[in-house]
Amino acid sequence: MNPFSGDGGPSFSFEFFPPKTDTGLRALWRTVRRVESLAPAFVSVTYGAGGSSRDRTVGLTERIAAETTLRPVAHLTAVGHSVAELRHVIGRYADAGIRDVLALRGDPPGDPSGPWTPHPRGLRHAHELVTLLKESGAFTVGVAAFPERHPRSPDWDSDVRHFVAKCRAGADYAVTQMFFDPEDYLRLRDRVATAGCDTPIIPEIMPATDVRQIARFAALSGAAFPADLARRLEAARDDPAAGHRIGVDHATAMARRLLDEGAPGLHYITLNRSAAALDIHRRVAPAPVARPRLAAR
Ligand code: FAD
Repeated sequence: MNPFSGDGGPSFSFEFFPPKTDTGLRALWRTVRRVESLAPAFVSVTYGAGGSSRDRTVGLTERIAAETTLRPVAHLTAVGHSVAELRHVIGRYADAGIRDVLALRGDPPGDPSGPWTPHPRGLRHAHELVTLLKESGAFTVGVAAFPERHPRSPDWDSDVRHFVAKCRAGADYAVTQMFFDPEDYLRLRDRVATAGCDTPIIPEIMPATDVRQIARFAALSGAAFPADLARRLEAARDDPAAGHRIGVDHATAMARRLLDEGAPGLHYITLNRSAAALDIHRRVAPAPVARPRLAAR
C-alpha cells in the first residue's frame, strides 16, 4: 500500500534539488509555492555529493517542513559518510519533524560510473541505510528502483534480488529512476511481483523538453531515449515553445498509461521549475472533488 495515498488513489508528488545561488533559491521558492497550492502527497529534496551541497539539502528540507504545509521527503545517501555522520543527519531530520527519508547508496563522487568504494566506517548498500533509519525512529522509508536496471547491475536477477532485499529491510515504497518507455516500468513491476514483493513502486516522470538535455539524462541515469522523441525534439531545437509541447505531450501520454496500468502514483522531476511538470499534472490529475456549498442561514 502506497504510504502517501490518503484515499487509496494514486499519489502525486514533486522533486526539487537544493540550488547553489540566491537567484536559484528565489526561483525554487516560487515553484514550491505553486506546487503547495496543488496539495501534493509529498515533495522530495535530492541529496548532493559534497559537504556544502549536503548542508543545503538538509537546510532546504528543514525549511520546507517549517514554512510550508508540504510533507517533505529527504533524500539521504550513504556515500562518503560514516555511520556516525549518517546518524547525525537522521537526528537533524527527526528534530525538524521530518519523518520521511528516501534511502540511497549514492554514486562515487566525481565519476558516477566509477568504482564504488564505501566509507571505511560507513555502509555498503542502500538496504543497510533502510535498516539504520528503521532502527533510528518511526521513519517512512523509500528506496530507488530502476526500470532499465541499475547501470552497474550485471543482470536482472541480481538487480531484482537486491531491490527486494531493500524492501525486506523495511522500505515502505520505491521511486524509480527516470525512464521514457512505460513498458520498462511495467516489466520491472512484473519482475518484482514474481519475486514475491508487493512494495509499491512510484514511477518518476521527467519531462524532456529540450534536445540538449538528452546527453545529460543518459549520463545521469543511463535511461534509453526513444529515437522518435529525440528526432522531434531535434526539429524543435530552436523553438522552446514547441519543445515544451512535445515533451509535455510525451510525458502526459506516458503518465496516463502508467496510471491506467495501476501505478500507485507519479513523482514529477521539476528541475526547480514548475511549467512542464505542472502542465502534465493538470492533464493527468483527477479533477478536484467539488465541495458541497454551505446552505444559507
Ligand atoms: P543500492 O540499492 O545499494 O544498489 C546499487 C548497486 O549495488 C545495484 O547494482 C545493486 O543491484 C547492487 N547491490 C545492492 N545490494 C547489494 C549487495 N548486497 N551485494 C551486491 N550488490 C548489491 N543520488 C544522489 O547522490 N542523491 C540523490 O538525491 C539521489 N536521488 C535519487 C532518487 C531516485 C528516485 C533514484 C532512482 C536515484 C537517486 N540517486 C541519487 C542515484 C542513486 O544514488 C544511484 O543510482 C546509486 O548508484 C544507486 O543507489 P541505490 O540506492 O539504488 O543503491
